[in-house]
Amino acid sequence: MNYFNLFSNILITKGPTRILISDLQRNVSELYPLELYEVIEELKKKSVEEILNDYHEESRPIVHEYINLLLEKEYGFITENDWDMNFPPLSYEYHEPSAITNLFIEIEDIHILKKIYPSVENLGIKHLVIYSLKPLTINEFIEIDDTFKTSVLSGIEIFSPFHQKINLSFIQALQKNTARIYSLIFYNCPKPPFKAKDEYRFSLHFLKDDLKISDCGKVDLKYFNTNLPKILEAMNHNSCLYKKIGIDGHGNIRNCPLMNESYGNVQNQNLEEAISQSGFKKYWNLTKDSIETCKDCEFRYVCTDCRAYTENPGKNKEGLNISKPLKCGYNPYTGEWEDWSKNLLKQQTFHLLEFK
Ligand code: SF4
Ligand code: SF4
Repeated sequence: MNYFNLFSNILITKGPTRILISDLQRNVSELYPLELYEVIEELKKKSVEEILNDYHEESRPIVHEYINLLLEKEYGFITENDWDMNFPPLSYEYHEPSAITNLFIEIEDIHILKKIYPSVENLGIKHLVIYSLKPLTINEFIEIDDTFKTSVLSGIEIFSPFHQKINLSFIQALQKNTARIYSLIFYNCPKPPFKAKDEYRFSLHFLKDDLKISDCGKVDLKYFNTNLPKILEAMNHNSCLYKKIGIDGHGNIRNCPLMNESYGNVQNQNLEEAISQSGFKKYWNLTKDSIETCKDCEFRYVCTDCRAYTENPGKNKEGLNISKPLKCGYNPYTGEWEDWSKNLLKQQTFHLLEFK
């Protein structure tokens, strides 16, 4: 007898029309028909021979093909004597020691960073994302990096408007004089000043469009993330808001800069006080398994869960908005995508939320 063993790094997420198989070691996800899910479920209980016997003669070649596919893709392996118990299931628990992992701040003036520095250290923040509303000079970039020279931060990502002084020597000076910046994105750049190569310590991008914070939250296949820590986070917590903090351009502290609820202002309150307020963490443990429509979707653990832009404003009895993210055009019940921004209802909701 032959038995099929699924590797423990293979995660199968069932949707209404398809399944998503995520290889958590290779960081790739692929879609397959629901039929394959049934075969995999059978393979967990019966030997390959028993399954082939159970199927009608006409269906056997298809089942055979599916088993070959599982083996070719290296989703599992065959053993001769029962299932191999040396491959216990992977634990789906998620542990994150930092009180906050990511801080997103919208800034007009870089001096606000000195004010929040002690909180960054106390909370063990790992990633700092700065969205500058005004073009930054070379000295300002260096000063930002210098502020966090001895910090616990693992890196800084900066979004800044492009300006005419940004050229090859500007970037070379940043390469020489900064250590913490790992990603630089210049937006509103009609024409890149030179061809950015992979020769700097930081990644470098010039974007033609005027990047707005309100662009955040778009759901698209290209943003899906098959990465073990991200998937474990999504299975246990909110995939966008868990252990995140945001500061908007007026200094208001929020779970994300676009959420409605504010928990004080950095001018008179530190981040530790803000996160200790009741309500700040209310979305942290809301997973996609509780979000309308998403709870059935095969992408639910590789997708992000925007709570700032949702299809409906209503709240459940726990005071949480569990409506599907507004900027998603996917319908898991038909397996079809539409452009969410061309849907009139969604467009109206987006404008209402933007000008609220
Ligand atoms: S909640 Fe929405 S707007 Fe806020 S960071 Fe997440 S995706 Fe972006
Ligand atoms: S339905 Fe939900 S889980 Fe599925 S792609 Fe859209 S936002 Fe993501």
